[in-house]
Parts: sequence; C-alpha cells; structure tokens
Amino acid sequence: MSHNSYIIANWKMNTPSLAAWAQPVALACVGEAAEVVVCPPFTQLAAAQMVFTNTPIHLGGQDCHAEDSGAFTGDISVPMLKRSGCSYVIVGHSERRKYHGEGDDLVWRKAATALRHDVTPIVCVGETLQQREAGQTLDILKEQLASAVLVKGDYVVAYEPVWAIGTGVNATDEAIVEAHQFIKKQLNNRVPVVYGGSVKPDNAGAIMQLDAVNGVLVGGASLDGESFAKIIVAGARA
Ligand code: PEP
Repeated sequence: MSHNSYIIANWKMNTPSLAAWAQPVALACVGEAAEVVVCPPFTQLAAAQMVFTNTPIHLGGQDCHAEDSGAFTGDISVPMLKRSGCSYVIVGHSERRKYHGEGDDLVWRKAATALRHDVTPIVCVGETLQQREAGQTLDILKEQLASAVLVKGDYVVAYEPVWAIGTGVNATDEAIVEAHQFIKKQLNNRVPVVYGGSVKPDNAGAIMQLDAVNGVLVGGASLDGESFAKIIVAGARA
C-alpha cells in the first residue's frame, strides 16, 4: 500500500544501539501519519526485528540482489530480507552506484524483484555536482527513471542529489521542488517522492513542507534516536 508520507533512516555501515534508538523514535511515532522506516546493516536485522516488534517502526534493507537465490557470495536476497522482517529495501543508493558500479538497469531489476515479493523498493536517484553544474540534472533524472516502465506496483523514489549526501549542504528549496515535480511527472504522478541529502532536525520541517515532497530519507542524522525522533515530529508539523 502506498502512503502519503515517509520518514526513512539509512544507517549505512553503522550500528547504533537498537534499544536506545527505538525508545525516542517509537514515542515520536505515536499518532503520526508518516510511515517510519529504518534500514540498519544486514547484521542487525535479526535483533532489530525483535526490538521493533510491537512498535510502528518498519524495517528495510539497504540493498538486495536482483535474484532470489544462487551462487552470489556475500549478497543478500529479497526473500532473506523478508524473513528478517523487512517490508522495504533501498535500491540504487548513490554509494552503491559509486562504489559497486551499479547502473540503472540493475537498480530497476532489484526494484522489480522486491515488488514481486511484496517488499517496497525505495529507489534512489540524483545527479552529481558535475552533472548539476553542467545543467544536466533533469536529463540524468529522466535517464535514471527510464526503466521504471518495466516495474509494476507501489514503490517510493528518493531524490538524493549526490553532492548533498553527507556534506551538510542542502539543495535549495527551488532545486528540490523542481526535481520532485519532474520525477512525479515522469512517473505519471503516482509515486511518492522523498528527499535525501543532509536532512537534520532543524531543516526537516521546512523541506517536508515543500510542494511534491512526500518525506525524507536521512543518513547521518538518523543514527541518533533523539535526533531522528525530532525529524519525525517536524514531519508531523509540516
Ligand atoms: C543518505 O545516506 O541517503 C543520506 C541522505 O545521507 P545524509 O542524510 O547523511 O546526507
């Protein structure tokens, strides 16, 4: 089922204490309409599944393989994620694209596999600084979204300008709105689009108020439960 608003934590290769994190976050979720999702490293999923039981916090993987099983050393399949309690999975994060050479074809194949197993893919797209400065942002987004036509079902798109991730530099309001409106138009206005890139408690509310923004994907500021809880509360006020 597609929600109107998402607040997603991406812990990357970090392992905060689950119990300490869950307490303020679960409290902040009470009565909130947004779907709150946390994507811990694979090794924390089993423990997270237990800690987050009976809380409104949903679990997601940070990546998956496009195949269900097979000789793929070190990889994790969607059925494995599902057995570990995940109902979401991030695909195409810029760090996967950059450090693991993942391209759009593979990203959308992963998204299709997730959907086949009733796991909602969070498909990340976004331009590099070089591409933005060359005026190519919308062309790059169009290219990254082209294979979406092959995918059936409800998914989430995360617009994450690469130059805004982990840098403390936000995209301007105009740049965010332009990209989000463009992405929605490309996908026939049927997909929620969240923003990612240096979202913090003090800017989250303003970002979530922008037109065509359906929530946020948070890296660094999601590692501390209190900080992520503030982002949830800011989202509720937006
Ligand atoms: C991310 O990892 O997707 C991200 C947006 O990171 P940060 O919030 O640290 O910029």
